[in-house]
Amino acid sequence: MVVGAGQRFACGASTTQCCLHGPQRPPIMTGRAERRERGTVSADGERVIALRGADFVPLFEGVAHVTRFAPSPTGYLHLGHAYAARFAFEAARLSGGRFLLRLEDLDPQRCRPEFAHAILEDLRWLGLFWDGSVVRQSQRLALYRQALARLEALGVLYPCFCTRKQVREEIARMGDAPHGPAGEAIYPGTCRALSEQERRRRIARGEPFAWRLDVERALAHTGPLSWYDVRAGWVEAKPELLGDVVLARKDAPASYHLAVVVDDAAQGVTLVTRGEDLFHATHIHRLLQALLGLPVPIWYHHNLVGDASGRRMAKRNGALSLRHMRARGVSPEAIWQLLGLGAASARPRCASVPAS
Ligand SMILES: [Zn+2]
Repeated sequence: MVVGAGQRFACGASTTQCCLHGPQRPPIMTGRAERRERGTVSADGERVIALRGADFVPLFEGVAHVTRFAPSPTGYLHLGHAYAARFAFEAARLSGGRFLLRLEDLDPQRCRPEFAHAILEDLRWLGLFWDGSVVRQSQRLALYRQALARLEALGVLYPCFCTRKQVREEIARMGDAPHGPAGEAIYPGTCRALSEQERRRRIARGEPFAWRLDVERALAHTGPLSWYDVRAGWVEAKPELLGDVVLARKDAPASYHLAVVVDDAAQGVTLVTRGEDLFHATHIHRLLQALLGLPVPIWYHHNLVGDASGRRMAKRNGALSLRHMRARGVSPEAIWQLLGLGAASARPRCASVPAS
């Protein structure tokens, strides 16, 4: 299904609504220029910058956004997380909607209970209180299995027996292998060509495998798709850019792509906010929503927060973890100042949702 002119999104906004006709509110997020002028220097002398463009909270007349913050408990939250959480929080609060919290804890090797505990504590400390109870992906495996079974029944999955090493070698052999939007090599499709008999034989033999999405067959099912990003506008879905992604492994019943789509729908999320590093993942997510018959949210891919060298903030920047800063006496107010949030200095900006 393509959301086109006159149709409605999951949030209730029709594709012709515009917040210019609604109440004007100052933007919460300001752009890089303002932030640089303010000279944002942390307690440790670190500078913090937005990596690109200006962010604004999208408000549409009569639309209450349901948003979520969905970190993985694989480390402590840092300034980049604070920005992402605040963005989702403001979009929900300013529109009269709901702000949800989900822990993406599907990787038992890397996720730890103390990090999960710290996430809740840090958010409360920041004053970003969420609505309802915390959703934990590790408790929702049955839902992902159901979705996977549905995709399998549609004939858009195939088992892939390749090890990571085999995939690398195959790509090297191809010489001119296709690459994804982030420059990453995409799966060359080796196992797509296996016969049904061969697949059954290898599964029966107990060979470990992952389920991959056959993007070409999936697109033949759905027809052309598009999605709406508040900042980028209408985007034609091109899941082929990412290739036949993994949706599940033997040791992990759902990949990020599958779990996020299933959960956003189950939680009634209408505005998916996340960093722009995940912009291209949305091509796949839109395709999965169409295949699974799920409601279509709108997206806002916001700025990433970078360190002084312009690199995006990562969990390795321990000095910029909220824990560390808090222990050094930094207040939540100072955190927001550091991120250039709080004082509204730029002109109010609104977003309209034009017809595709
Ligand atoms: Zn394979």
